[in-house]
Amino acid sequence: MPKRGYAYFRNQGESWITMTAKKFRCTLQNIQWLTPNVMEVTFHTHKKLKFQGGQFLSIFVPNLVTGKITKRAYSFSSDPNSSEIQLCVKYLPGGAGSEFLKSLRPGDTFFANAPYGHFVFQENHNPNACFISTSTGVAPFRSMVQSELFQENLPKNSLFLHGARTENEIIYPGFFEGLGFQTVNAVSRPSPNYAGFHGRVSDYLKQLPNAWIWHNTDFYICGSGEMTHDVCEILTGGHGVPPKNIFHENFSLKKKAA
Ligand SMILES: Cc1cc2nc3c(=O)[nH]c(=O)nc-3n(C[C@H](O)[C@H](O)[C@H](O)COP(=O)(O)OP(=O)(O)OC[C@H]3O[C@@H](n4cnc5c(N)ncnc54)[C@H](O)[C@@H]3O)c2cc1C
Repeated sequence: MPKRGYAYFRNQGESWITMTAKKFRCTLQNIQWLTPNVMEVTFHTHKKLKFQGGQFLSIFVPNLVTGKITKRAYSFSSDPNSSEIQLCVKYLPGGAGSEFLKSLRPGDTFFANAPYGHFVFQENHNPNACFISTSTGVAPFRSMVQSELFQENLPKNSLFLHGARTENEIIYPGFFEGLGFQTVNAVSRPSPNYAGFHGRVSDYLKQLPNAWIWHNTDFYICGSGEMTHDVCEILTGGHGVPPKNIFHENFSLKKKAA
């Protein structure tokens, strides 16, 4: 059974081997702003880092005044086979991880432990796949769908459902369409002329018909705890999706309504 701190890798397609997370020295290549508040952080590691699409790393974030280290988790957003590693990070003003990453310049080094997590593509499961994310929750999906594991086990039908507040906050527009996914960008505060879906990802799921492929689809959900909770309730309650077909990664704990 999976244990915390371990990552599981396929060994020549037959059995699983276990790998412990290790510490890596990383050198920043560049930071590119994908949207007004999301940065793509590109770097390389000094020794080979092996990870699976959907996994994450834990960055050592130093406090510049006290020197105290805190850690922040970020999902890999790049092709697991590439030595150029990418993260897709929401910039929260004043946030420890946000400010640290934003302060880095090309050539600067930082440290991270990796890999972690079990939010990976499930081969030999259901024939269809639905990927649901909000904001930077798209990161693990961008990595997962470029992995060999996914490319060698392509789902029959793939829906990518992504939520953003405004059109210009849609991350990686066109990327999933380019891979042949049916794509829906649900925008909760769209401009009046936005031609896509107006509303949240949960609104989109609620209005899908009962005859949709609910029972032979795997659902992968990533974003805030609140979103993953709401989407899980809609899938299991409203649409009768068995919980074993739902896989999720929470970027933050569910915030309870006051
Ligand atoms: C497994 C895992 C994978 C993750 N992957 C990613 C990823 O790929 N990309 C990414 O951007 N984040 C990711 N996160 C979230 C990330 O680890 C940080 O929690 C987040 O980026 C905030 O860190 P910070 O240090 O910048 O802000 P903090 O110093 O932690 O917080 C600053 C302030 O912002 C508030 N805040 C924290 N998070 C949010 C939020 N989501 N929305 C609004 N306000 C918030 C806090 O309450 C606080 O007031 C992941 C988390 C987990 C557990």
